[in-house]
Amino acid sequence: MQSGKTVTYGLILRETETKETDKILTVLTPDMGKISLVARGARRKNSPLAASCQLLAYSELTLYRRGAWLYLSEASTVELFGGLRGDIERLALASYFAELTESVTGEDQPAGEVLPLLLNALYALGVLGKDPALVKPVFELRLMALSGFEPLAECCGVCGRSEPESPMLDVVQGTVHCAACRRGGGLSVPLTEGGLTALRRALYADPKRLYAFTLEPPALRTLDHASESFVTAQLERSFRTLDYYKSIRAEH
Ligand SMILES: [Zn+2]
Repeated sequence: MQSGKTVTYGLILRETETKETDKILTVLTPDMGKISLVARGARRKNSPLAASCQLLAYSELTLYRRGAWLYLSEASTVELFGGLRGDIERLALASYFAELTESVTGEDQPAGEVLPLLLNALYALGVLGKDPALVKPVFELRLMALSGFEPLAECCGVCGRSEPESPMLDVVQGTVHCAACRRGGGLSVPLTEGGLTALRRALYADPKRLYAFTLEPPALRTLDHASESFVTAQLERSFRTLDYYKSIRAEH
């Protein structure tokens, strides 16, 4: 803090256009968690803030407070994930990641491992060119786990068998179980053995190696269905950006 200014790093999760040339930004920062700030003149041609105020830009931000609001005074981009911006499918998925992250993070709570997780996912999509169909469920599951919604996946939640037979995920109760151990009251979707292995990987693997594996398309589809159903059931909401991503996938 120097002369009333704060310097932090931040990733733009959402941009809202306001009157005239300003933007209101929702930003994920390491120390302050999720914040809202006003970027005055950011929509003006040749604004020095323009690049840093785009959705999914990661920048060093200089902020000051006036009244109830934080304002952006200077910004220096660190990573724009340029590879995302020329590919509508990857950009759509990354936008969903931003909306999902916004929904599970709070204000005045340090972002912890969530910010690095999201940055790594954007890097995997935009720089490393990883398969979006793989990055999506792995990111969803790991984000849910970091946000207090970790499913119990080490064994069958009913009989305790370490390798459940014909494994399923109960997306309401958040437990893996054998198909025969299904109980009422939840909502179970199939996982397959390959899908269960991948789900465990998504939950427990070293963050730097999260996306360093492949999965056969049928198992990947099953994992994706289980993961998406889990997100929707646990958070009890839908995501406009997810619907858009799926509409683009359907066109290809
Ligand atoms: Zn069982």
